[in-house]
Amino acid sequence: MESNTQFQQKISDDFAAWARESVGSRADRQHSLREFDIESWRYLSERGIWRIAVPAELGGENNTWWDFIAAFQGVARGGRDLGFCLSMVAQAGLIRALVRQGTPEQQKTWLPGLLNGQVSSMALTEESGGSDISKMAVTTGPHDALLSGTKVHITNAPVADVILVLGRSGDLEPKANATLFMVDASDPRLLRGPAETMLGNHTSPTGRLDFDGVPIAPVNVLGEPGNGLHLIHEIIAFDRLLYGMLATAYLDPLIDDLLNFVHERRAFHAVLADHQYVQGRITDIKFAVESTRGISRSAMEAVMSGSADASLLCSIAKYQAAESLRTGTENALRIFGHSGYEEGWVSRSVRDALGAVIAGGTAEMQKKNAFTQMVALR
Ligand SMILES: Cc1cc2nc3c(=O)[nH]c(=O)nc-3n(C[C@H](O)[C@H](O)[C@H](O)COP(=O)(O)OP(=O)(O)OC[C@H]3O[C@@H](n4cnc5c(N)ncnc54)[C@H](O)[C@@H]3O)c2cc1C
Repeated sequence: MESNTQFQQKISDDFAAWARESVGSRADRQHSLREFDIESWRYLSERGIWRIAVPAELGGENNTWWDFIAAFQGVARGGRDLGFCLSMVAQAGLIRALVRQGTPEQQKTWLPGLLNGQVSSMALTEESGGSDISKMAVTTGPHDALLSGTKVHITNAPVADVILVLGRSGDLEPKANATLFMVDASDPRLLRGPAETMLGNHTSPTGRLDFDGVPIAPVNVLGEPGNGLHLIHEIIAFDRLLYGMLATAYLDPLIDDLLNFVHERRAFHAVLADHQYVQGRITDIKFAVESTRGISRSAMEAVMSGSADASLLCSIAKYQAAESLRTGTENALRIFGHSGYEEGWVSRSVRDALGAVIAGGTAEMQKKNAFTQMVALR
């Protein structure tokens, strides 16, 4: 029997190859069209990316979340499209939450579609609240179960089939009414805006969602009413460490490209690799990648074991991931020179990487959470 490590290597290589022939071969086109790559999404779903860590009785393949991460990193490595991977991060946390917290009815209702090609969103941000997600105004009425209000900047919103919404149960005490709602995006009382025009991540559309009295039944409430903030922080923590896994898998092949380039291109009677300033830029990327890899694995271990410092480590992993992507892609652009600055995958990766500094919580919010957790763990 294959050991876990061999299995994970195989699964990672398989998904890297499948992502290369789907996401990777279409990324340039999708970026210029500013369109989500639904064909590649369905292709990778058919190959079982979402089923990997889900129990067999729920339609999955009964492997572990570490195995899912191996596959996800394969997609990042082979597809080389940060936007596509940001769209995946939005879905991974929701599937894990449904497996862990969903009732049998909810699992039967929502999982089959999500495991087999549907797209989902996680809607937290509101215009007035921004980083402070606890200020949300989306709510059901005090005497009805109709969800109303607006979310903005939501990944996959323009194309999603299912949406997880952080809102309020209007019939509960205002201080303890945060609730997670599952919404079928085909409901006519949900209106979606067009894809927002962003600097990068053109293959991962974000958008606005207007809920205009969407009916909420028990199957639409994930977890206990009033427990939404607690639950969403657990979901977000997992998503945050995924950013770390994404950053390393995305930057590893970039380092290979740079090493090839600096051994071919010459300046001042030597290959670029002989110039110490150039070496320094590549070693900086490597240092960033390895520290991100280390903290992301620690965060994953903490999440899987339910350790008290999981949220702290996930915030550090997210912070480190965004910084590594930002500085790593910028260093790459500098080394590739004008060819890197031209329109193409190098300049695109810089623009996409900047999105990771905001999405999933800004750097300041990761520090804020890290400090709160440090105090709580004293
Ligand atoms: C590519 C992308 C994808 C996204 N996808 C999603 C999604 O799927 N779902 C979703 O819900 N949201 C999503 N967002 C929105 C994102 O989560 C928010 O943009 C982010 O939380 C910041 O909110 P804001 O833009 O309103 O900035 P603000 O909260 O207004 O913050 C503005 C600035 O002030 C800083 N700041 C705010 N408060 C403090 C403080 N207390 N201390 C120090 N600094 C502070 C922030 O760090 C930031 O630099 C996405 C954003 C991007 C760019």
